[in-house]
Amino acid sequence: MEFNEEAEADTSQVKDLRGSPGGGGGFPFPQAGGGTGGGPGGIDVGGMLGGKGGLLGGGVVGLLVLCLLGFLGVGGGVGGLGGLLESGTDTGAGAPVDNTNIQQKCATSNPDRFNDRDCRNVYYVNSIQSYWSQGLQQNFGRAYRPAPTNFFSGAVRTACGQASSGVGPFYCPGDSAVYIDLTFYDELARRFGAPGQFAQAYVLAHEYGHHVQNLLGTEAQMRRAQQRDPGNANQYSVMLELQADCYAGVWAKSATATTDQRGKPIFKTLTQQDIQQAVQAAGAVGDDSIQKKATGSINEAAWTHGSSAQRQEWFIRGYDTGDPKQCNTFGNAL
Ligand SMILES: [Zn+2]
Repeated sequence: MEFNEEAEADTSQVKDLRGSPGGGGGFPFPQAGGGTGGGPGGIDVGGMLGGKGGLLGGGVVGLLVLCLLGFLGVGGGVGGLGGLLESGTDTGAGAPVDNTNIQQKCATSNPDRFNDRDCRNVYYVNSIQSYWSQGLQQNFGRAYRPAPTNFFSGAVRTACGQASSGVGPFYCPGDSAVYIDLTFYDELARRFGAPGQFAQAYVLAHEYGHHVQNLLGTEAQMRRAQQRDPGNANQYSVMLELQADCYAGVWAKSATATTDQRGKPIFKTLTQQDIQQAVQAAGAVGDDSIQKKATGSINEAAWTHGSSAQRQEWFIRGYDTGDPKQCNTFGNAL
């Protein structure tokens, strides 16, 4: 993958919640302790999500954290997410945002910006949203609404409750935002064996797939199906997750056509090796692979994201067709 040197990063699409650089390492709750006072009223997590008990009982992580991951907590099962569901927490909207550092890193005057992890991720977000701002209208006749990606460190409060880095990157439908602790990529590389740069782009594209599902109402439909049919809650979750993988593939297909705000292409080239890195990452986060790593055995009934093979297949289907309408992982289930 080669970035286009003329592409300008739009840092307004991310929010840096990690606290000022160099100030207080390991600052686990950036907005805790008085910072939340100015936020908009807290969102009633229980009300929004149909009840804490219902949610936990109804199929787990995928629903709330909707995401890719949850999987880091797999060893401990849902328990790993207990902290997420503190009811009555404020949203992340009141958290202090300081993008100064990212703006400096991404400045066009910085020749090293394409080697900087923060900045590369800004470009990925820009590219993904550039695609969907047209793709959603073209394919579904719906207007795209931008969603920020929040870089956090350690833990963060969101409309979906409080989350720690341990749950991995996630999308919260309640505040329409992606949340990621970028150190997750180190884990993805080391523990899950998916080290490529484009693995990172895949992770973000998957999360934005959930945003698209939120905009299209698919996520709400899926949640209703889970409530109607709780015995199959995990299967509905798998369908949702595989669709997000497919949407990630759709973006990858069009990535070289995406542009910055001035219409300059963001990527110069994308190679088969990049796509291979995304496919490898999709496989690395399959439920069977994760279960095997965590427990040494496989329990299909507990899957919420799909097997490695399924995740790869759906990413590839999205990539091969470049058509989000081909991402019907639900069949007639909704
Ligand atoms: Zn997901």
